[in-house]
Amino acid sequence: MKNFNKLYINGEWCDPLGSEVIQVLNPATEAVVGAIPEGTTEDINQAVAAAKAALLSWSATSAKVRGSFLQQIHQELVVRAPEIAELISAEMGMPIKLSQRIQAGLPVAVLESTIELLQDFSFSERVGNSLVCKEPVGVVAAITPWNYPLHQLMIKVAAALAAGCTVIAKPSELAPLNAFILAEVIDSCGLPPGVFNLVSGYGPVVGEALAAHADVDMVSFTGSTRAGKRVSVLAAETVKRVALELGGKSASIILGDADLALAVKATVINCFLNSGQTCSAQTRMLVPESLYDQAVELAIAAAEGFQLGSPLDIKTKVGPLVSSAQRDRVLGYIQQGIDEGAELLFGGAEEPDGFPLGYYVSPTLFGRVATHMTIAQEEIFGPVLCLMPYADEEDAIRIANDSRYGLAGGVWSADVDRAERVARRLRTGQVDINGGRFNILAPFGGYKQSGNGRELGRYGIEEFLEMKALQF
Ligand code: NAD
Repeated sequence: MKNFNKLYINGEWCDPLGSEVIQVLNPATEAVVGAIPEGTTEDINQAVAAAKAALLSWSATSAKVRGSFLQQIHQELVVRAPEIAELISAEMGMPIKLSQRIQAGLPVAVLESTIELLQDFSFSERVGNSLVCKEPVGVVAAITPWNYPLHQLMIKVAAALAAGCTVIAKPSELAPLNAFILAEVIDSCGLPPGVFNLVSGYGPVVGEALAAHADVDMVSFTGSTRAGKRVSVLAAETVKRVALELGGKSASIILGDADLALAVKATVINCFLNSGQTCSAQTRMLVPESLYDQAVELAIAAAEGFQLGSPLDIKTKVGPLVSSAQRDRVLGYIQQGIDEGAELLFGGAEEPDGFPLGYYVSPTLFGRVATHMTIAQEEIFGPVLCLMPYADEEDAIRIANDSRYGLAGGVWSADVDRAERVARRLRTGQVDINGGRFNILAPFGGYKQSGNGRELGRYGIEEFLEMKALQF
């Protein structure tokens, strides 16, 4: 049981100004695993005041000084990684083995890469008779979701602190405990008061208070497109900078000359990772009509390997969804797919056997999904893969781009040049060619309604910088 009853503001653990708490449930057992304060607008005001007061001196520190603080945070985070992996499994349900590698391992790797990038990051450049200075944007609000909770928070916190900004973190109320561990780590490293602050609570209260606050210079938001739009509207009033990392409906285009067995299997694995709760999940598998029946067989065979299980079991590949609301939403989409005439190939909306407790949904495959169907257009955020046949390459590109989202995608072909040509025509921020691995140095972010910023690598640090031109 992890109970946190204080907020981290101005370098101290402070009593929240309200008295309500939010309980955190284990989605596999429905048991309470912890509690956090339900922050209020007044708590936000205090945190913003602290971050504003700290900005002048923190932004004036050298990159070397900032890097050495990040280095200390990194060391402590490595020590606490096993605890973090277990805690995140307990609060959002990712199977422990994946949680160790991804939920605990990725934030450590991202922080390490930020420290390395900072070592030779250039904060100024000469252009003709100008000196272009890159200065911290100021007080940053980091609002994050629950699906890769510490990773998403770390991407923002590491880059913002590296850039010289001060931060108020607002983690998801569904998986917030790991953010309190990060605050403990930061506290133990003696970061100057006010540079990092943590206020937990609900989005419509503390999230909106941050987005609207006149002394917040930038909101870096990761979450749903719905909430991202609301943040943008509120932030517009004070013309603050907004970076949005939102939802997705990514396509995996399997071209006729691809290794079909490899491509289908990899797409199924990609889609079902984290029970389908990944913004960049490839949830639409596009296959040539001539190979469609074969692809269906291969996809079913791959899906059979994804048995549901307890997140604590090291053999489990798919755990529960994060909450009952999320499970109900996903089941609603599965039913809608059936009602709109898609072929149910595997799984479905029935309660899976053997899980009387927990928010489990069977990994599900739909066949002959048409682009106009709801399940082809909306982000389901569950283990649901749509198989969509296409006529030719042009048709595949048209279907892939027929989405209001534009976050990621995949292209498979024996001819890498052909795959690259197709990838370049996708209106998305990332495309994996033949299963290309996730790269923490590459820019991550979306086109269209998937967002408008880029995180990770040097692009992630640049996101938190203002440019000033001095003419000589
Ligand atoms: P969500 O939008 O409900 O919540 C995300 C965060 O925003 C939480 O901290 C929440 O409290 C806060 N929030 C909610 N309403 C708000 C409001 N009105 N004003 C300010 N803050 C508010 O999203 P979620 O359910 O936690 O996460 C799932 C979504 O996140 C999916 O749509 C997924 O695609 C997206 N996501 C995107 C990326 C990316 O990098 N593009 C990464 C992970 C998740």
